Amino acid sequence: MTATILSGKILSEQIRAEIAQETAAFVAQTGVTPCLAAILVGDDPGSQVYVRNKQKGCEKAGIASQLHRLSAETTTDELLSLIDRLNRDPAVHGMLVQLPLPKQIDTTRVLEAVNPLKDVDAFHPENVGRIVQGRPRFLPCTPHGILQIFFRHNIPTAGANVVVVGRSEIVGKPMAILLMQRGKGGDATVTVCHSRTRNLAEVTRSADILIVAIGQPNFITADMVKPGAVVIDVGMNRLESGLVGDVDFAAVKEVASQITPVPGGVGLLTTTMLLHNTLTAARLQQTASI
Ligand code: NAP
Repeated sequence: MTATILSGKILSEQIRAEIAQETAAFVAQTGVTPCLAAILVGDDPGSQVYVRNKQKGCEKAGIASQLHRLSAETTTDELLSLIDRLNRDPAVHGMLVQLPLPKQIDTTRVLEAVNPLKDVDAFHPENVGRIVQGRPRFLPCTPHGILQIFFRHNIPTAGANVVVVGRSEIVGKPMAILLMQRGKGGDATVTVCHSRTRNLAEVTRSADILIVAIGQPNFITADMVKPGAVVIDVGMNRLESGLVGDVDFAAVKEVASQITPVPGGVGLLTTTMLLHNTLTAARLQQTASI
């Protein structure tokens, strides 16, 4: 069997066109242009690329964007003061602080300082709590992008055995929580694996849907995948040979029924769902101000 490729590119283009249309309707109706403010601290090359892509995405969707660059020596207090200013700026609807932050900065304090109504990454504890309780304001971008793959390719999650490898706050943990919720995109039987999991291959082989976010190049091999499984590769590992995922794509595509590529898979959808959240944030603030 050779798997069908779940292209993030085609899906992203489709969803971004929908967002652009909805944004134009929102602007026409309210006279307000949604605006995303990104804060970039230091000069990590990967982060610079991510922020640039987010800005380009905004531009194409008709969303305004701001980039606030701070030096690598910035203190927590300096960053908090910028966040406070953006929190109070009515022209800014969404705000994101590009991670990772330099070591001297208290990341938890920073993420807690973002106004939850502008927290388009959904990292604020209030937004995380709402997700856990099944009444989200924003969905975290990477897990939401993965749910869009399921919805738009008619991949049912209800009753499926889903194995999530990785338990990070931004991917693995929220992904598992969303999949176990009642209703659309949920109702799965979820197992979460991590670096202390025993007999990992045995667990991954039980998956109807296998989602991998561990940051280990080509780690998931064909013998770790059940024939016919759907495989979602979140990993983005920069090697000399280029960008590779956490899944050994060439071998696993011969076993899986459907698989996301790297690049051109989940990464594009992550940025797309950020645009979606910025429009949602503008709507929420517009409603709050009426
Ligand atoms: P992370 O914070 O780097 O944490 C890695 C997770 O993987 C941890 O839970 C760790 O377990 C687990 N892990 C590491 N090695 C393992 C192993 N050998 N076996 C089983 N579990 C293992 O995770 P992340 O931030 O989610 O990033 C993961 C990957 O996704 C990276 O390549 C990152 O670049 C990529 N990523 C992509 C997107 C996208 O849009 N496509 C978005 C975010 C991240 P412990 O908890 O036990 O340490």
